[in-house]
Amino acid sequence: MTNILVTGGAGYIGSHACKALAQAGYVPVTYDNLVTGWQDAVKFGPFEQGDLLDRARLDQVFAKYQPAAVMHFAALSQVGEAMSEPGRYWRNNVTGSLNLIEAAVAAGCLDFVFSSTCATYGDHDNVVLDETTPQHPLNAYGASKRAIEDILRDFEAAHGLNHVIFRYFNVAGADPDGDVGEFHRPETHLVPLLLDAIDGKRDALTVFGTDYDTPDGTCIRDYVHVCDLVDAHVLGLRWLEQGKGSRVFNLGTGTGFSVKEVIAQSHSVTNREVPFNIGPRRPGDCTKLVSGSTRAEAELGWRPKRSRLEVMIGDAWRWHQNGHYEK
Ligand code: UDP
Repeated sequence: MTNILVTGGAGYIGSHACKALAQAGYVPVTYDNLVTGWQDAVKFGPFEQGDLLDRARLDQVFAKYQPAAVMHFAALSQVGEAMSEPGRYWRNNVTGSLNLIEAAVAAGCLDFVFSSTCATYGDHDNVVLDETTPQHPLNAYGASKRAIEDILRDFEAAHGLNHVIFRYFNVAGADPDGDVGEFHRPETHLVPLLLDAIDGKRDALTVFGTDYDTPDGTCIRDYVHVCDLVDAHVLGLRWLEQGKGSRVFNLGTGTGFSVKEVIAQSHSVTNREVPFNIGPRRPGDCTKLVSGSTRAEAELGWRPKRSRLEVMIGDAWRWHQNGHYEK
C-alpha cells in the first residue's frame, strides 16, 4: 500500500482528499495540529498530530510512514484574519511549508501536491483568469501562498522536487455520503454562514459590500465542489507518479456567481427565507475571481461532476443538517 502524507487532513478539503485517496487505493496519513481541524474528520487512514513548525516531528512522521508523496493542505486561510494578523499567516503558512518541504526533500519524498489559491492573482478587471495571469495578491493569505509556490520552484531546481500546484477558486459543498463536510469554528465562509443564518443558528448574514463594479454590486466568485476539487488532486498525484513534471493548474468552472446570486440559490435550494443585511466591504476582497479549467481538463482529464451551484448548496445543506464535529 502506498502512503501519502496529507497535511491538514483533519480540515475541510483535506478530509475529503483523504476519502478520495482511500477510494483510489492509497493510504492517507493525516498530519494536522487540530488548530482548525477536527480529529473526528480523520476517518480514512492513520492520524499523526503535529505542527508544521515542528521539524523534528515532521522528520519522525516521514521516517515512520515513508510516504510516496505529500499533499499539503494545512494552512491558515481566512482573508479577513490575514489582513489583521499577517505575521501569523507568514509564519504558519510560509515557515511551516518550508519546514515541510525541507523534511520531504531530506526524506527523499520528491512528489508534492500543493493547495494554492486564486487569491494569489489579485484583481484583474473582470477577466477570466488562467494559469499565466500575473499574480498580484491583495492580502497576506494570497501572498503567503504565492511565496510557497516560489519556494517549490526553487526546490525543484535545486533538489528535483516535482510538484503540482492547484490554485483553487471558491470551494463549497460536502461529501454526498455525509462522511465528511465543511465545519469551521469560527465560520467565515459564505455558503456555511448562509446555511447557519437560514437555520437560525446565527443572526442574518452580512453581505460585504454592494458597491463593487459588478452587475449587482456584490463580489463574484467561481465555486467548485469539494469532491471535484479533490478528484483533481488524485489526478495530480498520478501525473507526478507518471513523471510528467511540475505544473500549475487552476481549478474553477469558468462561471462566477455574485454573493446575491448565492443567496438567491440558497433560498431556492432550501425553500427558506435567507436573513441578510448589507455591510461595508471586507478589506482584502477581490471584486471578481473566475477561472476556466481548460488546462486541468485537457492535461489531467479533470471533469467536474458536482460543481453546479444548486448541487453544491444542496450537498452543503444536507451535511449542515446532519453533520458536525466535536473537539
Ligand atoms: N462574504 C459575505 N459575507 C460573509 C462572508 C463572505 O458577503 O459573511 C462574501 C465575500 O466578500 C466574498 C464571498 O462572499 O465575496 C466569498 O467569501 P468567502 O469568505 O466564502 O471566500 P473567499 O472568496 O474569501 O475565499
